[in-house]
Amino acid sequence: MNLRAKILSTYIGLAATGLLLLGLLAVWLIEGYLARRLELNVRTKLDVVASLIGNGSLSVDSTQDENLLELARLLNVRLSVIAKDGVVVFDSEVSRDSLVNLENHRSRPEIIKASEGIVGLDKRASGSTHHEYLYAARMVSTHVNASLDSGYIRVAAPMEEFETLSMQVKSTVIVIGCLSLLLVTVVSLGVSKRITKPILHILRSTQAITNGDLSQRISISSKDEIGMLANSINEMAEKLSNDIATLQKLERVRSEFLGNVSHELRTPIFSLQGFLETLLDGAMDDPRVNRDFLEKAHRHAERLNSLLNDLIEISRIESGEMKMSFRYFSVTEFLQGLVDELRPAAARKGLMITLQSEFDTAAKVYGDKERLRQAITNLIDNAMKYTDSGGRITVAARPAKHQCEISVADTGTGIAEEHQSRIFERFYRVDRDRSREVGGTGLGLAIVKHIVEAHGSKISVSSKLGEGSIFSFTLKR
Ligand code: ADP
Repeated sequence: MNLRAKILSTYIGLAATGLLLLGLLAVWLIEGYLARRLELNVRTKLDVVASLIGNGSLSVDSTQDENLLELARLLNVRLSVIAKDGVVVFDSEVSRDSLVNLENHRSRPEIIKASEGIVGLDKRASGSTHHEYLYAARMVSTHVNASLDSGYIRVAAPMEEFETLSMQVKSTVIVIGCLSLLLVTVVSLGVSKRITKPILHILRSTQAITNGDLSQRISISSKDEIGMLANSINEMAEKLSNDIATLQKLERVRSEFLGNVSHELRTPIFSLQGFLETLLDGAMDDPRVNRDFLEKAHRHAERLNSLLNDLIEISRIESGEMKMSFRYFSVTEFLQGLVDELRPAAARKGLMITLQSEFDTAAKVYGDKERLRQAITNLIDNAMKYTDSGGRITVAARPAKHQCEISVADTGTGIAEEHQSRIFERFYRVDRDRSREVGGTGLGLAIVKHIVEAHGSKISVSSKLGEGSIFSFTLKR
């Protein structure tokens, strides 16, 4: 059973039950009232006749028949006078001659009750006229006629009016009931449609979403629960399509990365293989080239090693395995140590490296010292790689608002504007050959970017071709 049928059957069922109970109650009350009125009416008429006969104003002689008949006609009742023994001595509906044919009335229920001294009432069809009557009888003990001084007076009112009225009440109740039920049906058809239409709309949309059409949105703007449901489904679809877009992008990035990795690994492996094969093929015994080939093979093995190290590092960072441990440490001491450590390597390349810190040794910054060491070493390494002999490398620390700005500047080749936004991508190099020649992996800046971002900061570059580059980021103090 669908929702609409449920709503309809509930509404109509409830309305039908209510109307039926109400109708029955109305019929019961009105019929009761009519019956009581009829009974009262009959009793009053009985009392009138009984008092007229009882006080002698009327007697039941054949001479008085006209008056008795007139009285019965005026009161609109059937009037009977019955002797103590049950013999009918007058009946407004039966002529005197035919009275002898009437049954003895002693055992009539109203007469039996009247004989006990109360007003006897009975409702039944008359044996002689076949109409339904309400009979009321009472005893009169004074002068009834010359030969009769006690007996029963009985009046019978036709039930016809009561029955007609009751039929009218019943049919009115039925008509009103049916009309109300019809109205309820029409209204509940409308209401159930109004309730189920947006639900069906939601159903169709969610089915479309389930079938993969994530662009589906439900256009319901009502502020009620249905509107709220539609809204939250829309939000869900929005989030889902964003998530899927992100997943698809990640998937693309991942397979691109895999392609890049294989490509990067191939070069040193092929070269290594080539030199080793040449050596094995006989160059090993040629003292003019054997050492040179071995050294070249060694260089490629080292390159492979640093490539693998960077790959392991970046995959650890990107998979979220990199655990950071933040603490405060002296920025000047830290940078001084790093610069001193790298000075011999710089000197070997004819480069001068200096530290310019505006902080005293007590000034502290907040960060993961080991990761920062790695990032700054990468920056200084790059500066050494892309600066020709005679150049200068300056590591600096200065206050920037409430933070500490750290920068690594060189007087090297510089980076053209169009490359500046891309050099932080994995495997992106401005000059592939030069990068390879100086032992670059193309991952150094990607690692720096990750580490700096894990510190809630951003790495930025400012560079001019032929003049040099400055890489900088800030740390909390
Ligand atoms: P690589 O291992 O090739 O140096 P990086 O990710 O460290 O890879 O750097 C990406 C590219 O950015 C480099 O190939 C180089 O072209 C450029 N680059 C990085 N640092 C500098 C710098 N200090 N001066 C000039 N170019 C730089």
